[in-house]
Amino acid sequence: MSTPATIHLKPGRDKSLRRWHPWVFSGAVARVTGTPNAGDSVTVVGANGVPLGVGAYSPHSQIRVRLWSFDPHQEIDAAFLAGQVERAVARRGAPVGDDPWARRLVHAENDGLPGLIVDRYGDHLVAQVLAAGPERWKEDLADALLAATGCAGLHERSDADVRIKEGLPVRAGHWRGRETPDLVEIRENGVRLLVDVRQGHKTGFYLDQREARATVAALAAGRRVLNCFAYTGGFGLAALRGGAEHVTHLEASAGALALADRHGELNGFDRGRWECVEADAFARLRQWQQEGRRFDLVVLDPPKFIESRQHLPRGCRGYKDINLQALKLLAPGGLLVTFSCSGLLEADLFQKIVADAALDAGRQLQLVDRLGQADDHPVLMSFPEGAYLKGLVCRAD
Ligand code: SAH
Repeated sequence: MSTPATIHLKPGRDKSLRRWHPWVFSGAVARVTGTPNAGDSVTVVGANGVPLGVGAYSPHSQIRVRLWSFDPHQEIDAAFLAGQVERAVARRGAPVGDDPWARRLVHAENDGLPGLIVDRYGDHLVAQVLAAGPERWKEDLADALLAATGCAGLHERSDADVRIKEGLPVRAGHWRGRETPDLVEIRENGVRLLVDVRQGHKTGFYLDQREARATVAALAAGRRVLNCFAYTGGFGLAALRGGAEHVTHLEASAGALALADRHGELNGFDRGRWECVEADAFARLRQWQQEGRRFDLVVLDPPKFIESRQHLPRGCRGYKDINLQALKLLAPGGLLVTFSCSGLLEADLFQKIVADAALDAGRQLQLVDRLGQADDHPVLMSFPEGAYLKGLVCRAD
């Protein structure tokens, strides 16, 4: 047992906590009294000695403390965490009809559980434990998750790079209950999809784009669609279901693309309505311009280009370039549905980047809709970092 510890903030560094922002950066810490271990609960006090809350200590991270509660007297124990888990689970709607579950159940800070992500696919839970706090309480959290959901099994995908910043080892594999099958079937907006919880990205599927995929389905009828950065085909399958004439999935990962192909068959679409192209998007879009290829709807859902502040300028150039290349492939009257999942890129700047790309492409663009992460990825209003995904639906002249 370590002694209960206190984190004393520097003068003036209590402002964000008073506004219920749940992070204490290392630069805000004046001193630590006691000897907390990673993940231990610590009380955070302002320079004037006023306690501000209780959080989990992360000695190796720039985010030195993540707040569990703004009540400094809150006891952090298995019962408190079980309550947080139950509330998060209760907030999620059920699937449509008999569809298997495909929902994010725990969205980290935004659900009062900093550093913990949990997605539910069918009867299986997939968790990412991304900070020292939830790592310390891992087994209690697993008990609470299985009890709150009645799920058969829990699989861990704590193999994200942020674990390294936290000084935690990367780990992935079976965690609790029944072993999760390699592929779990879900249904989204009427489309059957297989989720590769072991080898897939993140927890296996990008649930955050569910609502945006429904938007694309509604826009796709009769169009030639380019699904750029396709992963396992989500947007393209939505477009096919929405009546697209043809879909081209463009993706660099062969494994993801193989699943996109399989999804076309699983959903019974005519084989001639889609193609899978394994290539680097930046190069292939340029090649297609030279060949004079055109599309009526382009979806651009690239990976996160901006991992940290120092990557901001380079990331912005990446967004500008990919949007420019895509615009050059749009047929007259074509639609561009473009996303950024970089939390550090603000919505206004992203919009400006797309506007600049349009100018360079010599195309007038109308903004017809703004898109964001699905409603099972809520954003705590005091934590704007929770809103990372932004999308623009634009119509070209
Ligand atoms: N739209 C997808 C999610 C896309 S995630 C969905 O709805 O499920 C981003 C994808 O871009 C990943 O699958 C990644 O493998 C792919 N990717 C990353 N860099 C790429 C590149 N240079 N060219 C093509 N694909 C790339």
